[in-house]
Amino acid sequence: MSESARKFIFGVALLLAAGALIGWYYDETLWGLLVAALLTLLWQIRQLLSFDRALKTDDFDNFRVGDGIWQQIFSRVQFERDRGKRRKDSYRQLLREIRKSTDAMPDGAVILDAENEIVSSNRAAKLLAGLKRKKDKGHRIDNILRDPKLTALLESGDLGMNVDIPSPVVDGRWLNCRVVPYGGEQKLLFLRDVTDRIRLSKMRRDFVANASHELRSPLTVINGYLDALADSGDLPAEWEKPVVQMRGQSLRMKQILNEMLELSRLESSGYASRDATVEIATLLDSVRNDFERPTVAADIVINVESPARLLGRAGEIESVIVNLLSNALRYTPPDGTVTLTWRETPTGAELIVTDTGDGIDSEHIPRLTERFFRADRGRSRDEGGIGLGLAIVKHVLARHNAELAISSELGRGSEFRCRFPADRVVAENP
Ligand code: ADP
Repeated sequence: MSESARKFIFGVALLLAAGALIGWYYDETLWGLLVAALLTLLWQIRQLLSFDRALKTDDFDNFRVGDGIWQQIFSRVQFERDRGKRRKDSYRQLLREIRKSTDAMPDGAVILDAENEIVSSNRAAKLLAGLKRKKDKGHRIDNILRDPKLTALLESGDLGMNVDIPSPVVDGRWLNCRVVPYGGEQKLLFLRDVTDRIRLSKMRRDFVANASHELRSPLTVINGYLDALADSGDLPAEWEKPVVQMRGQSLRMKQILNEMLELSRLESSGYASRDATVEIATLLDSVRNDFERPTVAADIVINVESPARLLGRAGEIESVIVNLLSNALRYTPPDGTVTLTWRETPTGAELIVTDTGDGIDSEHIPRLTERFFRADRGRSRDEGGIGLGLAIVKHVLARHNAELAISSELGRGSEFRCRFPADRVVAENP
């Protein structure tokens, strides 16, 4: 028990004893005790009322009466109140600082709740995407920034994913959107101005496309003369081999230019239209017939497990199959097998090309779809590889909302799996 509590109890006991003593003196002990108790009670009621007024008015100095335990109660409550106020002030200050710093950020930051409704946004979000802090609060972000890519990003919950969308407020400006989970159900959407990057990559694409296009015409002339020379029959013997080599190399250059042009075209076009259906079984058969060379190549097995069709561009899907199959045959010995499978899955459909060939070192797998990347440079160049095939496959698949998954084991073979989403698959024959 504290010193003041002891004093308080001692004081009350002393008062009651004094009342009883005075009462006893007048032969009315009980009355004396009662009057003393009443006085004690009245004093405490007065203290309580003062305390109540002090709490209400927050003015502890004016209503502070008496001393002892009440003095201590007043002081403690006042101290706690002052501490609470100081804390509140420092939190307010901190909040102001946080808001100031998020407003100073060059990137837009938007807090979204579980329903993708805006909880708060910073100044850059207003400048970049026109989001108004007060007016747009509580509205769904995908109703304000209407872009299918952003909607897909919000639905996917994939942290590694980010998309570029045009700014709704400034013409020609591009925003990169990235979502980070935040505080339980909430999300933070970051918007970054990537106009320069988009402009640069367009310049690069245009340059590659223009250069490839311009180089094609002179190359066609060179090709023509080399063809004529090779077929003329009156070439000096020492020139026969060089001309055949020159012809081979110029054809290879033509193929490189064509593939670079194709890549540029794929890169600058959006999603493939869903107007036409592609019958995969027929496509697999016709590609196999083009490739089957009974004497030197590995076996080609076709495994069609579903009659489902694909919504997209038949020519592009054919180039995916041709690229994957030609790679598989190139890196599989003649006694090996290459299997092409088409099947439905719970999430859509898959086109899988597996081989029992050389396999790929795991360190190379993440880089295979980079343009001009070759895992085994010497060998793939010798065998006609350019390093653009898988880049084309990746872009065609992206245009069909599909993904490429590669797995491989050195010496055992590789698997290239193209995963198409359900909305690109027509399950039954129409
Ligand atoms: P390339 O024209 O060189 O085949 P790609 O882009 O098609 O270019 O392939 C890139 C690289 O991936 C190849 O150079 C090769 O090293 C490796 N690769 C692709 N497919 C296979 C496969 N089925 N087996 C082994 N390696 C492969």
